[in-house]
Amino acid sequence: MSSSCTCGTTKLGQFGANVFSLKTMRNYLSENAYQKLVSTIVKGEALDHSISDEVADAMKTWALEKGATHFTHLFQPLTGVTAEKHEAFLMPDGEGGSVATFSGKELIQGEPDASSFPSGGLRATFEARGYTAWDPTSPAFVRENPKGGCVLCIPTVFCGWHGDALDKKTGLLRSQHALATQLSRMGKLFGIKAVTRPFATLGPEQEYFLIDKTLFDKRLDLLQTGRTLFGSRPARHQQMEDHYFGHIKPRIMAFMDEVNIELWKLGVPARTQHNEVSPAQFEIAPIFEEQNLAIDHNVVTMHVLQEVAERHGLVCVLHEKPFAGVNGSGKHNNWSIVGPDGKNWLSPGQTPHENAKFLTMLCIMMKAVDTHAALLRMAVASAGNDHRLGANEAPPAIISIFLGEQLTDIIEQVEKGGAKSSKSAGHIEIGVSTLPKLPRDATDRNRTSPMAFTGNKFEFRAVGSSQSCAGANVVLNTIAAWAMDELCTEIEAKMAETRKDLNSVLQGVLQGIIRKHKRILFDGDNYTAEWKAEAARRGLPNLIKTPEALAILEDKKTIALLEKYGVFSARETKSRYEVYMHAYQQTVSLEGYCALRMARTMILPAAYRYLAELGSAQAAMPKGASSGIAGTIKEVAALSESLNKLSAKLEKSLHAHDSGTTLETMLAMRTAADTLENLTPASLWPLPSYAELLFLM
Ligand code: ADP
Ligand code: MG
Repeated sequence: MSSSCTCGTTKLGQFGANVFSLKTMRNYLSENAYQKLVSTIVKGEALDHSISDEVADAMKTWALEKGATHFTHLFQPLTGVTAEKHEAFLMPDGEGGSVATFSGKELIQGEPDASSFPSGGLRATFEARGYTAWDPTSPAFVRENPKGGCVLCIPTVFCGWHGDALDKKTGLLRSQHALATQLSRMGKLFGIKAVTRPFATLGPEQEYFLIDKTLFDKRLDLLQTGRTLFGSRPARHQQMEDHYFGHIKPRIMAFMDEVNIELWKLGVPARTQHNEVSPAQFEIAPIFEEQNLAIDHNVVTMHVLQEVAERHGLVCVLHEKPFAGVNGSGKHNNWSIVGPDGKNWLSPGQTPHENAKFLTMLCIMMKAVDTHAALLRMAVASAGNDHRLGANEAPPAIISIFLGEQLTDIIEQVEKGGAKSSKSAGHIEIGVSTLPKLPRDATDRNRTSPMAFTGNKFEFRAVGSSQSCAGANVVLNTIAAWAMDELCTEIEAKMAETRKDLNSVLQGVLQGIIRKHKRILFDGDNYTAEWKAEAARRGLPNLIKTPEALAILEDKKTIALLEKYGVFSARETKSRYEVYMHAYQQTVSLEGYCALRMARTMILPAAYRYLAELGSAQAAMPKGASSGIAGTIKEVAALSESLNKLSAKLEKSLHAHDSGTTLETMLAMRTAADTLENLTPASLWPLPSYAELLFLM
């Protein structure tokens, strides 16, 4: 196991050891094949299929040396988790022995039976085949299992036989293409010399809980649904504010150490780790990378967290709201873009020219997010995340942008500014004025905003901890591309019409955007009721539950938008609506059945046992002695009756597939059960308590 190496240099030195990286490839490929592959990976050029056999052979040689016996195409179906099917490199040689084989065809394309993956009607079962296709921009890697088993993993897209995207990656890659196209166009408009292919960057901060496995296993709800459906908040929870950034316990340190080494070997640049707000809650954050790679790496991170936890007698819980009454977990999606000049376009620059580009980008994001707030909300909709968004610890379902005082002021100056104004008068003249130097930390004071500008990137904080970041980034890329497209079209037309240069035209265009979309800016506390009311006045959507949020996928405008930028066909968009809605209903339903089982087979029996004990105690009381027993009996009996009745109601709503009533009834049952937990002797209570789950580690 990796924890056997003790020297820090050795540990850090293992970075990328199990990755078929550019550096590794150089040693295994001919110069010709290497250069061709680099063109595909770095410049985004189409793959030259004539090199596929050589690349496959090189990968196989390297993987065998690493101890791999199998390979798998690794893909991300719409279930949100990864899928894999291992194939041995083994081929009998006809003489009783074997040879290790792996062809270019096997590398490039796989044909898994797709019939058991959700397709939302994209694929009829009679044409069950789907195919996986190699994504060379995300390097192959070898995954080891310390207890045995070593597999070469090849990141792939997953499509139906007619090319319909059945996965999370295809749409992402398409949205990246749309974004890159518009960034290049904008670069030309700004007279920028292209030195690179433009791309999006991503740094996902991953929150998670760790629970002792023996306790976890005693909770049917955690085992089956990933969250607790019952459980009374203990006296001590997170109110002392002593866990966040607190001292990391040795058992957790040992876990984190092994996680880091595993991740580093896989080329995941894990960098930051700390205790989070709730007891038993933690965070891991990587150094940001190109978006597609960062998403694949985040998926790997979630797997590694879970696997390593198991080896430490822990369970890593990735659910968005495993415990009521303490913070839930999210994934802060730090999104930015690198333009064709190779620079971060969300970084305020040194020169008026760079600032024009930066302010244009801010306005583009205002336009994009305001116009498509509902779509962005949809991208993070899930049964789990519904419990977290708007729960006074996570951003609300209302999407708004935080820019910070200084930038808001600058945006206001741009709005007011004009050709005749100067910056000294409190006006910004685009392309002429320089911006005051923005201290980076001044922009990151608001932790309540769903979309916060944090110095050189937008931090979209509404993504759920168990979700793939792909969905959110598909939307961010697409709406940014759309806003850029609109802006470029407007500028090009104005320049042609007025025969003026970019700077003189830009000012007016940005003013127009700010005037129209400034309602999306909000720097205040997003958790308050006042903001809800204010947002409603501003006309910002507040889509609280997943079904409401998913409805935007049925909107003609959404379908047209995704189609226009080549992200999803109308069929594919429709399929996503079906798949996500189905997943939501299934989740609510299975939670409901689990709650029903627990109420009837665990909680009510405990209450009845206690009632029997109370009855005996009362019968044993000396005549005339007064005690509070009768009152307690009455209380426990009333709660039991209520839980019993609610269980019957839940059963009905489950049979009727009524998600709304199911959720409501589960909540009412929880209230009754949690009150019972606070009355019933701990020795009779059938479930480990929150105190044990959150503090015994
Ligand atoms: P904190 O939020 O804790 O102050 P940072 O904001 O510096 O820390 O970083 C949070 C995450 O944002 C990290 O994963 C980091 O790599 C990522 N990040 C930093 N710069 C960018 C960028 N230009 N694009 C995308 N992600 C970035
Ligand atoms: Mg941050």
